[in-house]
Amino acid sequence: MILDTISDGNLYEENKVKVDEVWEKNRGGWERIIVEIIEILLKCPFSWEKLKEMKENKIEFWAADGLNLLRIIEMDEKRKSFYMVNQTGKITWPLRYQKLEEVHNKIHSGGTALISYEIDKLIPTWGNYIVGLFKYLGCDKV
Ligand SMILES: [Zn+2]
Repeated sequence: MILDTISDGNLYEENKVKVDEVWEKNRGGWERIIVEIIEILLKCPFSWEKLKEMKENKIEFWAADGLNLLRIIEMDEKRKSFYMVNQTGKITWPLRYQKLEEVHNKIHSGGTALISYEIDKLIPTWGNYIVGLFKYLGCDKV
């Protein structure tokens, strides 16, 4: 019965518009899903939430100078700034997330290179640490 219905060319012709609509809708769905997955894969995970996760999991990463093993030790939600500590226990000055976000946008838009010397021009003395953090997050790969 179903086979008869499917093989009924006239029925297909009658419903062609509807069938095409469903097809288009589902195809659009798959395209959206694929685009979303690609966007996720092409994006680095940088965000305030990601930094928080790094702090909670005590994630360590190397500064670009290769001398300081860093981790995020404290985050100030109110000021939206955070502190890092190196392997000797030396704690940094607070780094404002907004400032870091500006630099991050510049890196991904090609406005600046991910090298300490260039980052130092934007946030003096922070180049090594910021490059280390962004390299840990894979910003140099996307
Ligand atoms: Zn990034």
